[in-house]
Amino acid sequence: MTSSTPRLQPCCKWLFAAALSGALLSCGKAPDKDSLVVYSARNEQLIKPLFDQYTAETGTKIAFVTDSAGPLLQRLQAEGKNTPADILLTVDAGNLWQAADSGLLQSVNSTTLEQAIPKYLRDPENRWFGLSVRARTLVYSTERVKPAELQGYAELAEPQWRGRLCLRTSKKVYNQSLVAMLMSQYGEAKTEQIVKGWVNNLATAPFSNDTKAMEAIMAGQCDVAIVNSYYFGRLEKDQPDLPLALFWADQAGAGVHVNVSGAGVTAASNKVSGATNLIEWLASAEAQKQFAGDNLEFPANPAVEPVATVRAWGKYKPNVINVADAGELQADAVKLMDRAGYK
Ligand code: FE
Repeated sequence: MTSSTPRLQPCCKWLFAAALSGALLSCGKAPDKDSLVVYSARNEQLIKPLFDQYTAETGTKIAFVTDSAGPLLQRLQAEGKNTPADILLTVDAGNLWQAADSGLLQSVNSTTLEQAIPKYLRDPENRWFGLSVRARTLVYSTERVKPAELQGYAELAEPQWRGRLCLRTSKKVYNQSLVAMLMSQYGEAKTEQIVKGWVNNLATAPFSNDTKAMEAIMAGQCDVAIVNSYYFGRLEKDQPDLPLALFWADQAGAGVHVNVSGAGVTAASNKVSGATNLIEWLASAEAQKQFAGDNLEFPANPAVEPVATVRAWGKYKPNVINVADAGELQADAVKLMDRAGYK
């Protein structure tokens, strides 16, 4: 979801040059009060059209850098008060939680955002707000698995799935958030048992990404995997006759694990109201369909319908444990997965 090279777009190139030369920015902020700087782990093709539209409507110019979440957080930390960034836009509540916990984001007062974004999809202290939702759920071979055989995440640890499960690496934040959510639901001991069961059931070593896990199912290497819904959508778009289907996990229990991409105003920003306005707009009915739809995600604003491809997967019950809780348990989840031998 990220571009490999950090890029600072249009009006902010001067800032990037200054940063590269190692010089501290004398002004610290972009010079124009009607401009904003966004650090984004969501890639350029997903954000630029929306930013262009916002600029056209409001006159506010938006410069942005895209990079992976880790480097962006390090950069914000290193730049401290002098960061040019007004907004951090990133994927996974774990990353947003970490940014907030490190003091990189500030609380904003916005009734608009509180009304647009359900409580479980935003920081309890309003330091970040989910803007799009992805379900991390089961995907199965329609040739070798009947949906009636599936239930949820915990059941994938049962012996009937021995040698039939494919997983992505535990190094990916998505799996860390999933396991953190299971910990908040089942406690540590039971979650460790579940994860050990997954490891016992693996058909092959964990993959570097969700798409490879789905391709392994198609190649007959395994029968079921856990993936983010939009990766399934991308594959389905390329191959409409995919011998795979999504299965909404834990519908009789706590619900499917959801995560967000979201945004917060940086602690260092002195353009809080301008930055808040942009996040409010991204959460609005006008922008939500495109913000979520371009990446085949679900809008975080429940008043907005998903795009047709996503709608076709049907409705599901989400696990409404606050996505921020998963962030808090993430470090423990990493240790647990290590103990369980999940690579
Ligand atoms: Fe992703």
